[in-house]
Amino acid sequence: MAEIKIDEKLCKKCGICIEVCPQKIITLNSSLIVTENCKGCRLCEYHCPDFAIEVITNNKQ
Ligand code: SF4
Ligand code: SF4
Repeated sequence: MAEIKIDEKLCKKCGICIEVCPQKIITLNSSLIVTENCKGCRLCEYHCPDFAIEVITNNKQ
């Protein structure tokens, strides 16, 4: 399980994170997403052009 924090001040609502998430769990209605379906792959974090996403996992990868 992982937490996804979206900084709403930085987020431009471009939707790239929604496109790249293999689990299709990101919505922009919430600034904090906590779900067991998140694999902590960090694709959303890597692809966000505005560095608005932080993925917090317990796994050291
Ligand atoms: S990729 Fe980044 S800026 Fe774009 S919608 Fe997602 S969090 Fe917001
Ligand atoms: S870390 Fe991976 S599975 Fe989790 S929200 Fe981001 S892209 Fe989706």
